[in-house]
Amino acid sequence: MFASKDRIEATDVLVIGGGTAGFGAAVAAGRQGLNVILLEATSKIGGVMAFCPGMPWGGAYPVDRIIGGLIEELTTRLEAMDPPAAEKRTCTLETFGPEIVYDHDIATLTMFEMLEEAGVRTRLNATALTPKMNETRIDAIECYDRNGPFTIRPRIVIDCSGDGDISAKAGVPYALGDASGNMMAVTISFHMVGVDWDAAFAHSDPYFSDFAGKGVAEGRLHKDLAKLYLMKGFHKETVFCNSVHVRGVDGTDPVAVGAATQEGRRRCHQLFQFLRQDVPGFANAHMSLLSPTVGVRETRKLEGVYRVTGADLARATKFPDGIVSCDNPIDDVMRSEAGMTHDAAISQGDYYTIPFRALIPAKISNLMFAGRILSADPVAFASVRGMPQCMAMGQATGLAAALSLRSGQPVQSLDVDQLVHALADQGVNRLAAFAPA
Ligand SMILES: Cc1cc2nc3c(=O)[nH]c(=O)nc-3n(C[C@H](O)[C@H](O)[C@H](O)COP(=O)(O)OP(=O)(O)OC[C@H]3O[C@@H](n4cnc5c(N)ncnc54)[C@H](O)[C@@H]3O)c2cc1C
Repeated sequence: MFASKDRIEATDVLVIGGGTAGFGAAVAAGRQGLNVILLEATSKIGGVMAFCPGMPWGGAYPVDRIIGGLIEELTTRLEAMDPPAAEKRTCTLETFGPEIVYDHDIATLTMFEMLEEAGVRTRLNATALTPKMNETRIDAIECYDRNGPFTIRPRIVIDCSGDGDISAKAGVPYALGDASGNMMAVTISFHMVGVDWDAAFAHSDPYFSDFAGKGVAEGRLHKDLAKLYLMKGFHKETVFCNSVHVRGVDGTDPVAVGAATQEGRRRCHQLFQFLRQDVPGFANAHMSLLSPTVGVRETRKLEGVYRVTGADLARATKFPDGIVSCDNPIDDVMRSEAGMTHDAAISQGDYYTIPFRALIPAKISNLMFAGRILSADPVAFASVRGMPQCMAMGQATGLAAALSLRSGQPVQSLDVDQLVHALADQGVNRLAAFAPA
């Protein structure tokens, strides 16, 4: 498959994937005056955020202070609208800190506007397929859209694809799931609209376990619906249903993802009927915003110069090259036959940072990665993967791209102090010695 000459483009930075990480990377690089192309395989910005519309931005407030940077800017922008399109709320689940709920459509519109303002050329419905290597550099990426193949010749590649296909094909070692290859369950979400909140949330159990147990025992709910996570949506009388998890799906296999999406929809319909019939407050509600595809939590974890571990988290490690703070619990969801865990990652009142070295491969001089494909062991991964942290990882790599291009240094040889300083200047909080704790 060869691209014709008029379908070859050069750019400073190619960001692959328009999820929260790709958004952060592209805006940050664009604001540095770089020529940036953002390639997104679907028709929308957001990634998992768009696949599970209305999912709160969790983990933005380690020890109740916002992580800063782009997520703070986006949130402030949404909060300042009339009517406000975002707000900070206490999470229903005890071990999580506060989270940001928002109007999904206005948030994605605003993210797109921020990309435009940063001068990013966003190409939707376009997929990166194959890297062309020149020893330890990526020279070009073969891509395709509905008009056929095209080629991008980037000086720097930032892989924010969640699955890391390009990094893997470029030779970056990776692990799929945990030591046995088990990945977290995938999830399909929906909203119930027209819910009487007072009646629905009169009980203190965030998982509606008694109701769900009855539904499972009577064979009206799938056995994996024994815990229903239902939370107030951003808009009044809406409820976000983040409950339908499908186990054992390899998110890198599009056929498996398609089958899981259909199975998930069936279970959502089953849950919708159950809620209306059995759970107070839902009798007159209807279903809306069903995920267009399942949200995939975990596939490849790439091997970086450094791999963040559960032990690093437990020690509340604040790395000298830390680029964002985090205190999320170990949020593990139904690997193999296991259940859900929300165990604390660190002692209460403390936080850790994610090191820049977890976002760069050992060998390829012009490649970085950000978001859920970072280099982490399964325990650390279960904590670091919140959308605010993914956006911040993206922001760090976008800025690092500018430093690398200006200095002519491979990404492995960057002056990390300079990077961390620059991030602190951009309002990212709690980075090593540069910002007050
Ligand atoms: C069901 C579910 C519930 C969650 N709940 C929460 C929550 O409540 N709060 C929270 O903060 N986090 C939550 N998370 C975690 C969080 O949503 C993800 O970790 C985060 O969104 C990952 O962002 P990302 O940008 O790294 O990857 P993704 O969001 O996966 O984005 C990757 C993007 O890359 C695109 N792409 C992939 N391959 C290519 C290619 N070859 N070419 C072009 N484009 C490509 C994809 O289409 C996608 O848009 C949840 C995750 C899931 C799945």
